[in-house]
Amino acid sequence: MKIAIAGSGALGSGFGAKLFQNGYDVTLIDSWESHVKAIQTNGLHIDINGEHCHLEIPMYDSRDIPEDVLYDVVFLFPKSMQLKEVLDYIQPHINQSTIVVCTMNGLKHERLIEQYVELPQIVRGVTTWTAGIESPGYTHLMGSGPVEVGALVTEGTDNVKTIVDILNQAELNGVLSDDLHQSIWKKICVNGTANALCTILECNLATLNQSDDAKNLIYKITQEIVHVATIDDVHLNLDEVFEYLIDLNDKVGPHYPSMYQDLINNHRKTEIDYINGAVARLGMEHHIDAPVNHFVANMIHAKEQQLDAQ
Ligand code: NAD
Repeated sequence: MKIAIAGSGALGSGFGAKLFQNGYDVTLIDSWESHVKAIQTNGLHIDINGEHCHLEIPMYDSRDIPEDVLYDVVFLFPKSMQLKEVLDYIQPHINQSTIVVCTMNGLKHERLIEQYVELPQIVRGVTTWTAGIESPGYTHLMGSGPVEVGALVTEGTDNVKTIVDILNQAELNGVLSDDLHQSIWKKICVNGTANALCTILECNLATLNQSDDAKNLIYKITQEIVHVATIDDVHLNLDEVFEYLIDLNDKVGPHYPSMYQDLINNHRKTEIDYINGAVARLGMEHHIDAPVNHFVANMIHAKEQQLDAQ
């Protein structure tokens, strides 16, 4: 079974490393030249839950994938705004049997992916693993899972079972989601509050929780997300989700969310259009107002402009 990691930044190289360590025929693919060169020349240096690993893992530049290579499974791990570019370069290397796995953050990636493969081929999900890049070729992966995955249509169930098995063989703790859409919307509640607000307010999660006004914003953003989630027949309990978010912020208090690290530390563009921006857009499609999410997305865009984010 040939597996490709299309988008091998922080989380992609982490998943790739776990699959490689557990005997899978896996290839990393990426377009960031210095990262690709570093791994091709010196291998991947990765810290997995504090343990340093040096892996001579195969790596292609996305422009140099050999013509005749066909993948059985593709894990998509670009940032949301890079997804089309990644699907374009992987398209010649997939067919009607390829399983395409998307556990990226953000809403409705399947609308784009289904322009490349049939819906049963798509395995969608969410993950609680976290990862980062120190420098080209040097990354870290932390967590113990789960990676919750599910099918978008019942014909895709066997493909989901295949992916759960692969994830478990690779010690990535794959779990068949009881309710895929609920898992995705719950993750949006986390990303849409902690990521966006810590980035706007330039603080960590503990500091966010110290302010009653910030907590009030968390509540309002979540209230809108919970309302818009009903378009997918997802019915979350607002107060329960709010308590869960506040508790989560307390637990990982000193942590700065990845959006903060991308924009404030590294001046990279964020996935805000696929999180709060998508909530506002989907709400509008269904005549549900989400003005706070819309405002938050605009605030992040303003900050991206101020910092000349690329
Ligand atoms: P990433 O930013 O590390 O990598 C995405 C792409 O950006 C890769 O092609 C990578 O090579 C490139 N890139 C990274 N740093 C770069 C730099 N300094 N200069 C130029 N190019 C660079 O993305 P990620 O954090 O692995 O996230 C992938 C997906 O997984 C996203 O949808 C994200 O929301 C989701 N996710 C990430 C985490 C996490 O902890 N990293 C956790 C859960 C979900």
